[in-house]
Amino acid sequence: MRIAMLARNAKLYSHKRLVEAAEERGHTLDILNTLRCTVHIASHRPEVFYDGEVVAPYDAVIPRIGASVTNYGLSILRQFEMRGTWPLNESVAIGRSRDKLRSMQILAKYGLGLPLTAFAHDPKQTSEIIRAVKGPPVVIKLLEGTQGIGVVLAETEASAKSVIEAFRGANVNILVQEFIKEAGGTDIRAFVIGGKVVAAMKRTGAADDFRSNLHRGGSAELIKITPEERSTAVRAAKHMGLNVCGVDMLRSNHGPVIMEVNSSPGLEGVEKATGKDVAGAIIDFIATNAKTGKTKTRGK
Ligand code: ADP
Repeated sequence: MRIAMLARNAKLYSHKRLVEAAEERGHTLDILNTLRCTVHIASHRPEVFYDGEVVAPYDAVIPRIGASVTNYGLSILRQFEMRGTWPLNESVAIGRSRDKLRSMQILAKYGLGLPLTAFAHDPKQTSEIIRAVKGPPVVIKLLEGTQGIGVVLAETEASAKSVIEAFRGANVNILVQEFIKEAGGTDIRAFVIGGKVVAAMKRTGAADDFRSNLHRGGSAELIKITPEERSTAVRAAKHMGLNVCGVDMLRSNHGPVIMEVNSSPGLEGVEKATGKDVAGAIIDFIATNAKTGKTKTRGK
């Protein structure tokens, strides 16, 4: 098979592992720098150009689109889909997952566990929002944040109000959440491929940090998840429409609650913590499922 990967940094562990896993299985995998791809809008001829040349047909495309270039990356992926290239994750599904509110609205609609969450535009409703999530304490999150940046724990009503006001003053969008204290600064990431959890790890935050992100100095270890956690992760992936994703959950007193569904999950933490060949499982999934023209949305 000929596989393209939209990615910016060929040296990242995840990207190197995918190339390696593809080559081990006799496929070719070309990394196309997302920002060097261009599109010329012309009737009936959806094409993608790379450094000015038309990109030859590929059997599949792996989107590894960084959060900072989501819109541009998704428009390139859409163009691949429109010309029939099978995407590992579809642009429409990635778009859903990149919007925290939209994701939570979808997951809640299907009855998946989430922390109590509220958002409002009007500052006069701040007290109501804090009460709606049974706080204080509350967790306040920037909607555009990633890697734990812009996630704040406010322990009192006064601090919650001042944090909310500060974010509003900076003109950024936020959501307010119930603080899941019993999670104890750890979360679970279940790595889902094709409707199955292929690996799971527990991440623990650096000392004194309630955030468990590896980028914030946390550490990861292998964990055996419960059947309820497994089915939560699989259902989350299904309703988001993602073939491959990392489902982050906290263990709350009322069962697993989803933090986030990540459509470009990193491989380094999970492969090192679990010893599993996750890159290989992704390539095997592509080899079994990729078929020209077989996308649900074709980018629309
Ligand atoms: P990001 O998308 O930036 O990683 P998250 O929403 O996943 O942000 O939050 C980062 C980390 O902070 C989570 O992995 C979790 O450990 C902690 N955290 C986030 N929300 C809550 C919450 N409501 N209660 C307890 N801990 C939380």
